Amino acid sequence: MLKIALDNVYMDKILGGVVQVDDFTRNLLKINKIIQKEGPSQNVIACINRSDYMLDKNSRNSTNLLKIRQVEVNAIASGMSSHSCNTMAMHNYLMAKYKVVKPNNDYMPENKSLQFVSQGVIESFDSYGKPDAHILLIIEERSINFSDQFAIELTVSKIRPDIQFIRRSFNSLPDIIKLGPNKELILEGNKEIGLVYFRCGYDPTNYNFEGAWDVRLLLERSRAIKNPSINFHISGAKKFQQVLNSREQLERFLNPYEADRLAKTFCKFWSIEDSTPDGNEGFQIGLNPSKKLVLKPQREGGGHNVYGKDVRPFLQRLPHAEERSQYILMEYIDSPLEKNWLLLCDDEPFKEPSKLDSYDRLVSELGIYGSIIADGSNIKSNKYAGYLVRSKKYGVNEGGVQSGCAGLSSLILVDDTRDDFNSSVYYD
Ligand code: ADP
Ligand code: MG
Repeated sequence: MLKIALDNVYMDKILGGVVQVDDFTRNLLKINKIIQKEGPSQNVIACINRSDYMLDKNSRNSTNLLKIRQVEVNAIASGMSSHSCNTMAMHNYLMAKYKVVKPNNDYMPENKSLQFVSQGVIESFDSYGKPDAHILLIIEERSINFSDQFAIELTVSKIRPDIQFIRRSFNSLPDIIKLGPNKELILEGNKEIGLVYFRCGYDPTNYNFEGAWDVRLLLERSRAIKNPSINFHISGAKKFQQVLNSREQLERFLNPYEADRLAKTFCKFWSIEDSTPDGNEGFQIGLNPSKKLVLKPQREGGGHNVYGKDVRPFLQRLPHAEERSQYILMEYIDSPLEKNWLLLCDDEPFKEPSKLDSYDRLVSELGIYGSIIADGSNIKSNKYAGYLVRSKKYGVNEGGVQSGCAGLSSLILVDDTRDDFNSSVYYD
């Protein structure tokens, strides 16, 4: 992703079709071009990211092992790190309290997501080199992720009480930020910002206020370190996932060994761009009702994808062929159905033990947090930063917790050579 972020020519080429029809991606790319042309005033690139995976039962081989498939990489505003480690602590506690015995070799790996993500925030701030500067956390005007973000602020303050943390909504910024004589980012007249931590800015609706794109440009122009900077943000576009599905493209950035290891987690993708041979072939695959597919635009944050049987009519109803460029087509990951219980906000916690005899049928998604800091192409630190497990009921498409579709869960690594492994964990 870093290599993509630093390769403007490649970025332009790959997203060329997308920007014709997608204003949001066009605006991001436009700002990146301005910054590259002017020369960035900050070479440090930082990003707290999260790569999401699901288990794929169709890839099960003769030994019955399930493979993981990558769903997407989040390169901006990766959330939930605060709650995921608490969920694990809760499950551990409850299992001990109710004497749930795990088979010998199964274990719950430690999850320090909150601590690691907070350390990533601190490290990116420290790269600015001015201890008396501030961290600016940018949020939506009404943020339902408040408790997740605030726990990070709290943890940062515990580890480093000297760091001053400021939280402001994106739309409040036009009147309160400006650049200093050396492109310092100055907030409210006198506070120098060392790190801008974006927990907003990934969705077009975040920019529905006067001067929104000017604000993003000003932030990117400033010397403050951005987590993430706009080029890294763009490198998380789903279009790159589709393009890197080609071995030739992947080896542009990685050696064959690295490419092999990474490609093992990849799903199949197709471009459906009009007027290209590959795109026309992909489009025909999308129209094939027997294929299990997901159609995705270049969007983040849930609610934008088209699933399964809806893909064909959606493609047939697209008004202009050029609009196909903003979508990618992805193979549907057929996850095994787990036996488990999911408690959503409208559910009554069950009081009768008899209810425990019946399970919900759930599908889970594993997110692996990472924190990267680079000085140009020179990687200073690139660390694992804990994990997240979200579970949703079978048949529910979106996997968002805040949107009420999924719940948080924990990870148990199981011994899959165990005789009863499949029947105790999965339905099929
Ligand atoms: P977003 O950026 O909106 O989070 P995602 O690519 O993560 O987009 O898709 C949203 C959700 O849809 C995922 O969390 C997952 O539950 C489901 N999903 C996405 N891609 C696939 C796929 N190929 N197969 C099965 N489910 C998928
Ligand atoms: Mg997602």
